[in-house]
Amino acid sequence: MLVAYGPEGQPVVADERALSQLQKWSQQRQLFCPNCRAVLHLRGGPARRTQLHFAHRKGECPWSTEEESERHMRGKAVLAAWLRQQFPAASVTLEERLPEPNRIADVFVSHADGQRLAVEFQCAPLELDEWQRRHQAYQQAAITDLWIIGSNRRDKQEAFQEAILESSGLLIFLDPLLTPARVWLRWPLSAQALQAWQEESTGSARTLDLSTGGWVGRLGYGVTLSTTLAELQISAQGEVNHPLRAAYERRLRLRHQMMFANHVDEDLLAAYLYNTVSADMIERVLRPLLRAYRSDPELLRRYNYGRGTAEQPLQEADRQRVARACAWLRHLARQGFPPERLREVAQEIPFVGPYAAFVRYIEMLVTLAQSHH
Ligand SMILES: [Zn+2]
Repeated sequence: MLVAYGPEGQPVVADERALSQLQKWSQQRQLFCPNCRAVLHLRGGPARRTQLHFAHRKGECPWSTEEESERHMRGKAVLAAWLRQQFPAASVTLEERLPEPNRIADVFVSHADGQRLAVEFQCAPLELDEWQRRHQAYQQAAITDLWIIGSNRRDKQEAFQEAILESSGLLIFLDPLLTPARVWLRWPLSAQALQAWQEESTGSARTLDLSTGGWVGRLGYGVTLSTTLAELQISAQGEVNHPLRAAYERRLRLRHQMMFANHVDEDLLAAYLYNTVSADMIERVLRPLLRAYRSDPELLRRYNYGRGTAEQPLQEADRQRVARACAWLRHLARQGFPPERLREVAQEIPFVGPYAAFVRYIEMLVTLAQSHH
């Protein structure tokens, strides 16, 4: 355990006191179990490359039936540090003994506005009904419970994991023994959404360390995002997310709208490109281009690289409009929007629904502007 009572009955957290002070108290038998009041001794520490902690000398503590693993202790310590960083104004305590429900939360967060969050780090197997009992007890006590699973259980197909997934929509696995502590987020995706994710991942947002697969119970398989604990964000309501995952989900929703749109929409496109294309590029190049396209989507097809089509020979008015568009693009190139960059931006636009034709339009126009020197 990471918390003991000191000589005056004050809570003493292992990592938060000078080692020499703790050693002295330990030798003087002045550290006590907060639960059974038995004498505790100091164990582990940096010299032994293990988590510094307190342990009963012998005999079982009625409150802890099994030997606590290094992984579990380390996990509680890194989770508390992360939660303190996430909630600087809240009180974050380790091994908090809660009268209601009658149990010890691994880490407990108490917000100034009264919201409370219990974080449980589960490294050992857990029966489904035991998980349900604890989850319901927290809910009845109006405490949000967040379950984080030891990475040692990542490949176990356990009913309690499935229950956590169903209640929160997300599985969080933690390996606190790595430095920095690593996290895997796993959640289910339909086959269709999975394909869209994979298409998204081939675009500019390749930074996401994403793999498919990973059991998510009867929901089948999902995606797993590998990241560090420090990158995770948590809301006061206990909802955990990763900024890249949130950005991806947002883009997926927009992409879905674009796929089933009747026509190309400026604002929808701007919203989709918000994170990957500069505001300048959107305002000064893409929006005017999209307006020109919408006013006459067939212009470049009729122009057909200056050859016209069999049904429609080239009109002088069309030739002049294309020439003006090319002059405009060359002007933009001198303003810092070179054609190569325009091609890259065109590739950022999803090739779906009515947007596919707009992508071809941009590519064709850039080709014309480059050849009309
Ligand atoms: Zn005890």
